[in-house]
Amino acid sequence: MGDCIFCKIIAGDIPSNKVHEDELVYAFRDINPQAPVHILVAPKEHMKDMAECATRADDLAGHIMKVCVKIAENEGLVNGFRLVTNKGEDGRQSVGHLHVHILGGGQLSEKMG
Ligand code: 5GP
Ligand code: ZN
Repeated sequence: MGDCIFCKIIAGDIPSNKVHEDELVYAFRDINPQAPVHILVAPKEHMKDMAECATRADDLAGHIMKVCVKIAENEGLVNGFRLVTNKGEDGRQSVGHLHVHILGGGQLSEKMG
């Protein structure tokens, strides 16, 4: 956790292009966008992935999804969008702090895996 890049972004120690922030989550534009709109939504509290988030008693997972939908609306993604969260090696997770990708702004690849 001490050297987590997303914790540093959320703390403001590494600059980011912020899209949304509330008491629970921080959203920012991906540094290497895979679509015209590519935003990452991460909980402020460090947790490694959605499986860890799903063990919580609260509804943080639901809040993250609701924030994703609101951001997609704000970004004008009226024709659709994709939400993705990678877990672990097979899921090709490269940053070990939970985040959901919002992808949109044009028709996405037919392939997902
Ligand atoms: P993952 O592969 O873990 O699902 O996604 C990690 C994402 O974080 C990648 O899409 C990558 O481009 C993005 N990313 C990695 N480092 C940084 C950074 O320092 N700033 C921003 N804005 N995005 C980052
Ligand atoms: Zn972290």
